[in-house]
Amino acid sequence: MRIILTGPPGAGKGTQAQSLSSKLQLPHISTGDLFRSHIAEGTDLGRRAKTFLDAGELVPDEVTIGMVVERLAADDATAGFILDGFPRTVAQAVALDEFLAEQLIQINAVLDFSIADDAVVGRMLARGRADDTEDVIRRRLRVYHDETRPLLDYYSALLVSVDADGEVDEIYARAIGALSERVASTP
Ligand code: ADP
Repeated sequence: MRIILTGPPGAGKGTQAQSLSSKLQLPHISTGDLFRSHIAEGTDLGRRAKTFLDAGELVPDEVTIGMVVERLAADDATAGFILDGFPRTVAQAVALDEFLAEQLIQINAVLDFSIADDAVVGRMLARGRADDTEDVIRRRLRVYHDETRPLLDYYSALLVSVDADGEVDEIYARAIGALSERVASTP
């Protein structure tokens, strides 16, 4: 199964992705985590990405797409994957579709974790990651509305919405429910 998780920053995608990944035995591929490990290891890609993460801007598509395609081509991703934080622009979605078409594979579901902006700001301030200052959070939310939300139209045929306001376990149950509904309705 190939699943995309989308939603605003702070919606809890990463937490849910980890639970889904162990339940479904699929690798959890998070672009945020990939960038943070490149930065920690001091790679070239990490150096290029760092200023964008620090500012709450998207890393340029050519850097991001190359990194993800390389990760998706790894052996452990051939049977399926959970993509968390990618695609985040329509150009990234188009590039992903090209990759999938070459491999003759398809995405099964896009889970959209929906939650109000005000609710996520509080969550992220509590989380205290380096890029979780109020200004950077606001910037990330703006970028999300401008660049990432248009993907909901792009993926309308595969989209299932998950209410991401609540307790972690509750949201997980909703995600599993949404996923089985979506998979059951696949022709
Ligand atoms: P959050 O969901 O809280 O925004 P992430 O870990 O998903 O956190 O992303 C952190 C940062 O990594 C983003 O603000 C952005 O700079 C960069 N990033 C992650 N995914 C992408 C992507 N698909 N395209 C461009 N930049 C990305």
